[in-house]
Amino acid sequence: MDLMEKVVSLCKRRGFVYPNSEIYGGNQGFYDFGPLGVEMKNNLKRLWWKWMTVDHENIVGIDGAIITHPKVWEASGHVKNFSDPLSECKKCHHRFKQDDLAENRCPDCGGELTEPRNYNILMQTQLGVIEGEKINAYLRGEACQTIYLNFKNVLQTNRLKIPFGICQIGKAFRNEVTPGNFLFRQREFEQWDLQWFCHPSEMEKWFDYWKNERMLWYQGLFTHPDNLVFYRHEKLAHYAEKAFDIQYSASPFDGSEIEGIHWRGDWDLSRHSEYSGQDLGYTDQGTGEKYTPNIVETSGGVDRTFLFLLLDAYCEENDRVFLKLNPKVAPYKAAVFPLLANKEELVKKAREVFLSLKSEITVSFDDRGNIGKRYYSQDEIGTPWCVTIDYQTLEDNTVTVRDRDTAKQQRLPIDNLLKHLLNLLK
Ligand code: ATP
Repeated sequence: MDLMEKVVSLCKRRGFVYPNSEIYGGNQGFYDFGPLGVEMKNNLKRLWWKWMTVDHENIVGIDGAIITHPKVWEASGHVKNFSDPLSECKKCHHRFKQDDLAENRCPDCGGELTEPRNYNILMQTQLGVIEGEKINAYLRGEACQTIYLNFKNVLQTNRLKIPFGICQIGKAFRNEVTPGNFLFRQREFEQWDLQWFCHPSEMEKWFDYWKNERMLWYQGLFTHPDNLVFYRHEKLAHYAEKAFDIQYSASPFDGSEIEGIHWRGDWDLSRHSEYSGQDLGYTDQGTGEKYTPNIVETSGGVDRTFLFLLLDAYCEENDRVFLKLNPKVAPYKAAVFPLLANKEELVKKAREVFLSLKSEITVSFDDRGNIGKRYYSQDEIGTPWCVTIDYQTLEDNTVTVRDRDTAKQQRLPIDNLLKHLLNLLK
């Protein structure tokens, strides 16, 4: 089995990710997150949200609706751009108009191209109840549009001054032509976005700032930060002066986008001003200057981060498989075991310790099989610390704490256990 197959199998076996609608044969491009997957995904989203809104001044969040007025997608360019006949590269998935192609090879990576087809990757739905009178609408193709739509609302209701940011975590839907590679290219996925609004003269400064900040954030999460690289785009949108991707570059993803850092200029607010007829300009209260704010966007994928983190964390050592996940990301922070499952006094004490931790951190209780198997089982899902209650515990109220990565154990008083684990998690 290659690494990807091992991770996919582990995800299914241990309850991280299941194929959607599996009992009906599956549903291509859709996945469900299981009990461990949802813990890990929520950890990631919490970390992102805290870093964006608590650790940075002048950033607020929103949670926009999935369906917007259909005109939004005309203003954004998606209706037009997503319905021209295009050829898609089977390798990098970039799409090209037939006129731009000299040969049947991708100009970006040399991959094979599909026949030109009319793509509309926006997912359509209908609003209304009376047949024949239903209105066509779209599930959002990218989460950021609701931020632009609420720019004025947020500005007016939050005493904000430029520069400031609005961030959001939310679902996006695309009828991808070639969904695949597990969570990498799905039809329903989740994005975390920041739209940073600034004065046009400060774009250069803020673009570089966010490019570096976002890289630092990802580096802090990954076990092998060296596998994260910047990719500079050569082909740019007409409003962009530069664009970078943060890529994960390790087997089997040899340079694949996790997040894009985009120079959007005044494109989005100008387009929505034009299509809605509403002025989305900004007046500087100090100088009186009126202008359309420019935007630096950082748009990343929650699911791709999730997948890359698992690939990055997967380790095999002799017969031991373990996920060397950052403890902040791991689904369980600790597991608690009685040394022997059939000794009532050990089980009782272990339950007590388990319950004392449970309201503070995610913790698992396990009294099946032998202790070695339980360690292996927790290693495989990335639990950083295993706490064992043995006969000495009954005498002196101490427990052993085993470290996932080194398999080394230390003895600690139960009274210090929670504090010790919380300190490690800091
Ligand atoms: P790609 O070129 O790989 O299709 P993109 O440039 O279309 O990506 P964006 O529109 O910039 O992607 O979306 C921002 C982020 O959303 C991406 O960096 C990626 O992490 C995530 N993303 C985009 N499409 C998908 C998808 N089909 N499945 C999972 N995540 C996705």
